[in-house]
Amino acid sequence: MPEFQGTGKRVIVATAKSASEVTAGSWYHGFGCKGCDTQFAVFDDRSSGKSPAKMSGDGHIRVTCPHCGEEHVYETAEIQNFKAGK
Ligand SMILES: [Zn+2]
Repeated sequence: MPEFQGTGKRVIVATAKSASEVTAGSWYHGFGCKGCDTQFAVFDDRSSGKSPAKMSGDGHIRVTCPHCGEEHVYETAEIQNFKAGK
C-alpha cells in the first residue's frame, strides 16, 4: 500500500484500475465514485482487508472513474478498502 507523506496540500493524480486489472475476490483500496456511486479500485490491498487504508497528510487524489469516466478529487480520508466482487 503506497503511503503518501508530505506537507501542504497536494493533489495526487492516480489511475484507477480497469475492469480487466481487477481480480474477483481480491482486496483493493479505492473510492466510491462521486459520479455514479460505484466503487472502483486504485491500489492493491496486500493486507486483504486486514489493515485499513492509511494515507497520511492532507493530500487529495484526483482520479477518473473507470465506470462512468468522470474525474473527481477525493480526500485521502475517503479511501476505503473493499473486496472485488463477481
Ligand atoms: Zn463513476
